[in-house]
Amino acid sequence: MGPIRCSRCKAYINPFMRFVDQGRRFICNLCGFSNDTPREYICNLGPDGRRRDADDRPELCRGTVEFVASKEFLEGPRTMVGIATFDSAIHFYSLKRAQQQPLMLIVPDVQDVYTPLQKDLILPVSECRENLEQLLESIPSMFENNRVADSAFGAAMKAGFLAMKSTGGKLLVFQSVLPSLGVGSLSAREAEGRANVSTGDKIDSDKTIMVTFKHDDKLQENSECGFQGDDESLIPSPLMLNSENIREDGVYLLENGEDGLIYVGNVVEPTILEQIFGVSSLAALPSQAVLEQFDNELSRKVNEVINEIRRQRCSYLRLRLCRRGEPSGDFFRSFLTEDKAPGGLSYVEFLVHVHRQIQSKMT
Ligand SMILES: [Zn+2]
Repeated sequence: MGPIRCSRCKAYINPFMRFVDQGRRFICNLCGFSNDTPREYICNLGPDGRRRDADDRPELCRGTVEFVASKEFLEGPRTMVGIATFDSAIHFYSLKRAQQQPLMLIVPDVQDVYTPLQKDLILPVSECRENLEQLLESIPSMFENNRVADSAFGAAMKAGFLAMKSTGGKLLVFQSVLPSLGVGSLSAREAEGRANVSTGDKIDSDKTIMVTFKHDDKLQENSECGFQGDDESLIPSPLMLNSENIREDGVYLLENGEDGLIYVGNVVEPTILEQIFGVSSLAALPSQAVLEQFDNELSRKVNEVINEIRRQRCSYLRLRLCRRGEPSGDFFRSFLTEDKAPGGLSYVEFLVHVHRQIQSKMT
């Protein structure tokens, strides 16, 4: 069985497709169509509405999944392919079979992008398989000694787009550094500014955010973090990642896309503990955070927010309870990056942190 796809728009299965009706149907997140789940793929749903096997299936909990394509799929009569690489320039490859080896065609102008005139940049797989394999084998060694750190990312996308304009298709771009050159380039400063989080920012998948669960209309400084603060999203406005925002009578969620740290202050009101965690004292808190939904408004909101973050993220948020005076509390505080000068912890903080880490390893 190949990857599951939406029968209407052909979208591939992904973590944002929603399974309903005991897993027997799924709603496409791209077109909204309600699909029948293939019988061999059906799985029961947990109380949170996720499939019980979601964490075991990369296509249901990861942002990117590679499927090994069958030979039939690869060599379908009309499958066409083209390869380009880029650093400060863009390199296309002619894969024509008659040639002994793939021919590199360089596009050096990344401000005013064009594609080489050759017609054989994109060819049916069946006509270029040998050269294609040879090229893919040799790309790593071809650029082994390349010291160019610049990336003409935007220009490469544009060139790729132009190259396949007449055939149409899908452009896959692999990028690991800041786009620094040509159209669409960013300076390090711009990129930093965009990644920064401040109160009132909208959440997106590149940000670490922290939100508070406690709404108290008597406290002016926290009022804008209330759950009604933002009508467009279930996610309350994030707080700056600094310790001034952490009060010992509050409960906070800090998430970085992989982990969700729930910090519970030392003097949180018992009623709040009761509502969120179902326990009446700090001592009764479990060390493993298994967040249940209880029958009250606060618990519902906490669960809604966490589920919404999980929906927006590509991976399933692992929850961890953090307490002051415990290694978990230090771990939480190590994420309060807005506190620190560039370079991280102050020396004393660093020593204390290391000391606690060692202690926790020894015990
Ligand atoms: Zn669809």
